[in-house]
Amino acid sequence: MNTGKKKICAIICILFMILLEVAVNVLGAHPEIGNFIPAIPNRNLFGIMNMLQILIGVGVVMLDWKSYAKVAIGVLGVSAFVTVTVVMGHEGLGAIPGVVLFICGFIILTILRKQYGKREREAFSDQLTGIPNRNHFHRELGYRVAKGQPFYYVYIDLSGFKRINDVLGHVNGDYMLKEIVNYWKNLLGKDDYLARLAGDEFCMLVPEKDVADIGLYMKPFIEDIMEEEVKYDNGKNYRMVGANAGIVRFPSDSEDKDELMRKADFAMSRVKKDPDSHYCIFDKDVEEDIVSVAKVQEMVKKGFKEKTFYMVYQPQFEVGTKKLRGFEALVRLKDDLGHVISPGVFIPIMEQTGEILKMDYYVLRMSMEQFLPIVKDYPDVTISVNISARHISDERFADGVEEILKEVGFPAKNLEIEITEYSFVHSEEAAIATLDKLREMGIMIALDDFGTGYSSLSMVFRIPIDLIKIDKSMIDHIHTDDTVRKLVSQIISIGETLHCEILSEGIEQKAQADVLGDLGCNYIQGYLWGKPVIFEDAKKLVGLNMN
Ligand code: C2E
Ligand code: CA
Ligand code: CA
Repeated sequence: MNTGKKKICAIICILFMILLEVAVNVLGAHPEIGNFIPAIPNRNLFGIMNMLQILIGVGVVMLDWKSYAKVAIGVLGVSAFVTVTVVMGHEGLGAIPGVVLFICGFIILTILRKQYGKREREAFSDQLTGIPNRNHFHRELGYRVAKGQPFYYVYIDLSGFKRINDVLGHVNGDYMLKEIVNYWKNLLGKDDYLARLAGDEFCMLVPEKDVADIGLYMKPFIEDIMEEEVKYDNGKNYRMVGANAGIVRFPSDSEDKDELMRKADFAMSRVKKDPDSHYCIFDKDVEEDIVSVAKVQEMVKKGFKEKTFYMVYQPQFEVGTKKLRGFEALVRLKDDLGHVISPGVFIPIMEQTGEILKMDYYVLRMSMEQFLPIVKDYPDVTISVNISARHISDERFADGVEEILKEVGFPAKNLEIEITEYSFVHSEEAAIATLDKLREMGIMIALDDFGTGYSSLSMVFRIPIDLIKIDKSMIDHIHTDDTVRKLVSQIISIGETLHCEILSEGIEQKAQADVLGDLGCNYIQGYLWGKPVIFEDAKKLVGLNMN
């Protein structure tokens, strides 16, 4: 039931409560009038009607704990008052059971309302900033779409927030996020809606009637904010980070909420291509981009049918000994002319269309089939497969992997599954349950792209992982930037505490490998020691010592 329908039901329930109240009072206070109504022949029925009133009150709290529950509790309060004053005066001690009944009902309703409110707040608000979270946003978007009044959906992404986390640490990064949200809250119009979707991603819903020019309207939120400062306890001030926004209009750009979100995503990717602009309003040009997306989708379909997907494998090595650890499986696609399309192009599209789920199983099976003869001869070789965030919170995924392992006859201990922190965005609980199941089977779990986006250090303490993969963007500066070196050193120490190994990705220079060796990083992967290669070439690396 949507919010609108719930509200209507709550109002009907309250009207019914009031009707019962009137009936009970008229009949209770003036028994001689009651005698004229043959449908209510005895007083016990009044008690039943009062009980009914309390039960309907419980229903109202469940339907709408916020506004109408208060009215229902108010009606019950009036009932209790009337029972005490009028009925007791009339009935004397005989009214005591009724009074007790009302007081209990009143208490039950108040407790229920508090519990419901707490549960809803936890499920629908963001713990860090207190604003609505992704779940609430989906509900609100559905509600506004159903209402049909034109509005703008603005998808906001903070720019350069990763750097804040790197430089100031995660605690200060969180503080900056809270300050940004507080700053935005002061700018919000009466009917504007702001939610945090994940990490440094937010969204706003702005009624069209309230703005003449949405670009201008958003300027304080995304550009002027960079003039503001956040004051830290240590006396230092840092400028707030700016933001980018992808904007779509309901209903002219789309009447469908999923499509609105997809189009806002495209508008956002446009902004990121243009360094001079902070926002993009969805229009014909962006639409044309989507057409090229449609072409990629076509190729993806063909890829499954005609098997034009193929795998390359990038070697991973132990830092000190340069001994091969295993390979990361990376998928590739060829277009009609035989040009290789990078996963950076087709994976995000497949993620949006959901085809990534099919791809995950495809890659798992293909890598296992190819490496089966190798792991039989070299039982230490690991094959790492990237798995989409959606799959990790899907309770059927672990069974799906088990089935492929059995069918191929591949040993679970030679398989590693690479996940990213986005796996925990929808449901941390469900994702952890999947990871636990995979690990019980003997599969290793690697946390990929660590240090990008909004990676939270505290997260690694909560989730079951065997390996942390430090992202290339951090490694790029490891030999030149002291702060980054210290940060990587801290990550390595945390890894030691958690008995979890560390692999650094994207090593292109010897100086980077040297620093990582000094810091005690366990493994490295990068162009310096090995680019992704086709299976035939990967085979040649097995058993080979790089020294
Ligand atoms: P990733 O998982 O972070 O994979 C590492 C990417 O960094 C690969 O790009 C790899 O070729 C590249 N790389 C490794 N070493 C170096 C280096 O020294 N220098 C540079 N410049 N790049 C390096 P690739 O293959 O283009 O993959 C991009 C992303 O696409 C992957 O990032 C991963 O998120 C996704 N992806 C690739 N294959 C799959 C797959 O089979 N399934 C899923 N779900 N995602 C995949
Ligand atoms: Ca990866
Ligand atoms: Ca990575």
